[in-house]
Amino acid sequence: MEKWVNHLVEDRKNAHRIPPVKDEKNSNEPQFIEEHFAEVERWLESEPQFTFAQHCGINPDYFPPQHMITDEQLLLLYKSFEALLFSWNLHVDIPESFPKREAYPLIITALNRKVDIEDDGFTTIEFCQYSVKDCLFKEHCTCKDIPFDEMETGTSNDEILF
Ligand SMILES: [Zn+2]
Repeated sequence: MEKWVNHLVEDRKNAHRIPPVKDEKNSNEPQFIEEHFAEVERWLESEPQFTFAQHCGINPDYFPPQHMITDEQLLLLYKSFEALLFSWNLHVDIPESFPKREAYPLIITALNRKVDIEDDGFTTIEFCQYSVKDCLFKEHCTCKDIPFDEMETGTSNDEILF
């Protein structure tokens, strides 16, 4: 398993994105403001077409199930996956305090998400439901601090802490 994990970590590095080289002279920035707005509109209306797996070429099945790896191996794979996402200008919104054993299978599901890869700026992949009752991060999530209406219907004692 050790060998396999090391292989995966190396493989993740190979899947890191090589940023496109920007040619300042032949920049394809829209020249007119109307064109710019049309572009923004197209962008807002279009759903991402490809999953992250399709962008980076990694099969989610490559990852060993969490019960087959040690804590150390799990952390190594988790960190290398985070670095991979980072190289594609992607960020996953997982609370730092959320146990890595539970975060590991979750972060891998990012491969199945349809995402647009941005050249400038980051895209955040969210898992939070913004409702304490439904949020899979439970007490770890910062959404419990947001006074959303849904929370009034909750019955958990956690919610009256603040
Ligand atoms: Zn949440």
